[in-house]
Amino acid sequence: MDQFYVICVYVIAGILGLCVGSFLNVVIYRLPRELSLAFPGSHCTRCDYQLKWYDNIPVLSWIMLKGKCRKCGEPISVRYTVVELANMVMWLLSVLLFWATSPVYAVLSAIVCSTMICIFFIDLEHMLIYNRFVLIVAAAGIVAMFHDGYTKPADHVIGALVGGGLFALLYFGAIWVLKREAMGFGDVKFAAAIGLLLGWQKFLFAVLIASVVGSIVLVLLNRINNQERTTEYPFGPFLVGGALVSMFIGAPLITWYVALIIG
Ligand SMILES: [Zn+2]
Repeated sequence: MDQFYVICVYVIAGILGLCVGSFLNVVIYRLPRELSLAFPGSHCTRCDYQLKWYDNIPVLSWIMLKGKCRKCGEPISVRYTVVELANMVMWLLSVLLFWATSPVYAVLSAIVCSTMICIFFIDLEHMLIYNRFVLIVAAAGIVAMFHDGYTKPADHVIGALVGGGLFALLYFGAIWVLKREAMGFGDVKFAAAIGLLLGWQKFLFAVLIASVVGSIVLVLLNRINNQERTTEYPFGPFLVGGALVSMFIGAPLITWYVALIIG
């Protein structure tokens, strides 16, 4: 019976994860374009073909249609399938890593992952982080204070202060030194919310990952594009990556590292 229960949780998390991922695509495409999330139904952006239910099955339809509109053959971005699969995988990871110790934290983790996927793709394309997403992460942070097995509630309050403080310093420091914004103020609010979500220990780990990966990617991009250093890239997607890695495996890694040092 126990095993049956666990399998049910995984199956539900997988299927729901795919379906919610499908909805995230609607949010990612329509929110920055100020279109309604509910109307009209899914349609081809070129020929307005209204998708039938069988054109709209996560992942499967995209494969069956070979990534093209059924009517006009317009290529459908692979991003739709990537978002659906990413959301499903992260929901399964949330169950795998957290369900046994805290179902509340597992659900919270799933909600955070979906929100982060929206932040990632919208910031990547439009260079903006919506306050409503930051508020969801912050709200999850308040719940996480009492359900994070690794940190105490105070660690999360300190995390919010450290996150907001550190990024505010970077934000205003860049304006002072460079005479321009090096990042958006959205990043400052986002960092504070991530600090509240993770606690200061896992927050610092998240920033470390985001900075290292961000630096590598920037160097590579500059080399490939051979562009000026002033080309702007959003930092939000790196923060998303760092925060998710840290939420998933930050606690055991930090514990291992601290034990290594104290030895
Ligand atoms: Zn079409």
